[in-house]
Amino acid sequence: MSATAPITQDVHTIPRKLPEGPINLVGLTRDAMREVLIAHGTPEKQAKMRVGQIWQWIYQWGKRDFAEMTNLAKAYRADLAEKFVIEVPEVVTRQVSEDGTRKYLVRIAGGHEVEIVYIPEEGRGTLCVSSQVGCTLTCSFCHTGTQKLVRNLTAAEIIGQVMVVRDDLDEWPEIGAPKDETRLLSNIVLMGMGEPLYNFENVRDAMKIAMDAEGIQLSRRRITLSTSGVVPEIARTAQEIGCQLAVSFHATTDEVRDRLVPINKRWNIETLLAALREYPKVSNSERITFEYVMLDGVNDSDEDARRLIKLIEGIPAKINLIPFNEWPGAPYKRSSNNRIRRFADIIYKAGYASPIRTPRGEDIMAACGQLKSATERARKSRRQIEAEAGLGG
Ligand code: SF4
Repeated sequence: MSATAPITQDVHTIPRKLPEGPINLVGLTRDAMREVLIAHGTPEKQAKMRVGQIWQWIYQWGKRDFAEMTNLAKAYRADLAEKFVIEVPEVVTRQVSEDGTRKYLVRIAGGHEVEIVYIPEEGRGTLCVSSQVGCTLTCSFCHTGTQKLVRNLTAAEIIGQVMVVRDDLDEWPEIGAPKDETRLLSNIVLMGMGEPLYNFENVRDAMKIAMDAEGIQLSRRRITLSTSGVVPEIARTAQEIGCQLAVSFHATTDEVRDRLVPINKRWNIETLLAALREYPKVSNSERITFEYVMLDGVNDSDEDARRLIKLIEGIPAKINLIPFNEWPGAPYKRSSNNRIRRFADIIYKAGYASPIRTPRGEDIMAACGQLKSATERARKSRRQIEAEAGLGG
């Protein structure tokens, strides 16, 4: 990250009086970019075209230096370089697991750090993106949940995660080279640190940039937002983002879900399911993913499996079974493989796809629920977590 501290501005309300110092063009919506270009001297008549040109350089070709934007006049490029920057988070560490999974620790404004995970698969690759430093919520099976919320990420810091990983994968296309349809980073899941629906606007703007047809061009069907159940924002996700939806479900009774996913005390299972039944984008071709972490003796009985089937009846759904990934101080154990297979079998026989997620990157603590950054270390001690989860003394 350059010496001049990047400006993290709220893109929705570009202040009339522009902030001192260069403005970061990354993360701005097209309208906001047009506004700041005009505010910094670009003639209004040209602004829309300039946005289109600059947008392609940044998001299609991956350029960070205005001097490389050769379809813009030299003087204009120099003027842009004086007033704007193209900044993405700084990669602090990069770890590669024996199974090819990559985990990045990146630093953002204020010196805070977040983790990102890239999971390569045959013919595709998924990026697990974070939306908050720490998390608003305290799901008791999740490592991030032990980290106090520090702040929401800006749209620049969210789309910036996609950009730094494309850099690392060397996935920016060559100008003039024949279009290569294969992608190393083909899917985005908002399943990293944080509850994305408690940072709605920044997540929305960042995903709109990722979906833009003149930039990174990721189909909305290849972007999945996972929520723990912020009911008021669920329908809005369909209307304003249009991506796929996943829900951190993890239990079949309110008594257990209150302990595992405390937001359930606010919007319980019945309320959540009602919102999912109304989800404007749900259909057989666009099923809602129910994520279900398999915790030994907590939520993994045959009865749980049957109750789950009953609860989601009528919702086009698939159930992702996630063998619990332990982390230091975790109050749970993973269910046995036999138990997980038995659970999956009951679900499958009821007509639902019930893939068992293969833990990836465990050797580098990159698996689901293992992410945590050093920023503002440990919110709760093991005893506190156990007490809340109704376990131990
Ligand atoms: S599961 Fe998601 S919402 Fe819950 S604490 Fe972890 S990051 Fe936050």
